Amino acid sequence: MTTDPSDSGRLERALDSLRGLSTGDALGSQFFVPDNRPLLDRRALPAGPWQWTDDTEMACSVVSVLAAHGRIDQDALAASFAERHDFDRGYGPAVNRMLRLIRQEGADWRELSAALFDGRGSWGNGAAMRVAPLGAWYADDPEQAVHQAEISSYVTHQHREGVAGCMAVAAAAALVAGPDTPPGPDELLAGVSDLIPRSAVGQGVRRARDLLDYSDVATVAAVLGNGRRTSAHDTVPFALWSVARHLGEYEEAFWSTVRAGGDVDTMCAIVGGVLAGRRGWGPPQGWLARTEPLPEWMLP
Ligand SMILES: [Mg+2]
Repeated sequence: MTTDPSDSGRLERALDSLRGLSTGDALGSQFFVPDNRPLLDRRALPAGPWQWTDDTEMACSVVSVLAAHGRIDQDALAASFAERHDFDRGYGPAVNRMLRLIRQEGADWRELSAALFDGRGSWGNGAAMRVAPLGAWYADDPEQAVHQAEISSYVTHQHREGVAGCMAVAAAAALVAGPDTPPGPDELLAGVSDLIPRSAVGQGVRRARDLLDYSDVATVAAVLGNGRRTSAHDTVPFALWSVARHLGEYEEAFWSTVRAGGDVDTMCAIVGGVLAGRRGWGPPQGWLARTEPLPEWMLP
């Protein structure tokens, strides 16, 4: 990667967020393994190493494109997604097919992404799951974070909800990692609402704000969704509720999020990535040590 030295604060924040994202992704996905489920009640950690999944692989491409171009270049992002695509990392079927066509047949991402789901575009949570480090990168400019997130989403997720979910996560990450005193829970969700377009995701974030005084995760997940349908609007509101309830508490946020079930690797990737963009809010050292290292191609 080539990097403009003036961006080093940005790159550092993005890498902090990326490590929080990959730890959440890798540890979260451990709880898909039936033998590990009983560990949940004791909050006991599975044996390492924990392998990360598609969430981390795609987030690495987002950060490497920002580092190389200083912004989101859609063609570079699509090329990196396709080049780094590892079929065994748990991608959804539509993205698997699309990235294979780009890599092997030189297909155009613009046509493929627009054609997904009978031309409606994908409303999946795949653009949101990878974008927290971008929000951390633009922590000094939340509006730019949301703008660049929107651009990054279109490469794979063009449905209004897929895009709005991506924008919401980037907004939250930017606000959390911002240069001033971190926002409180209500202020954070209000800030996200103000930065994203009218959408089911936005409505979910408003509902999440209404539920900030609830402590029962199962009830809140039943209302907001837990990612079981892997749509942006079934994923992002609960993830941001969990972030807002546990500002500065990575471990607590993880255990609370994983308890909701559903798409746990992506949920925990979003929550971990948003929190860890702020210095000192990342995963504990012991968790980082058990997480599979980031790929070599990505490190500066
Ligand atoms: Mg995954």
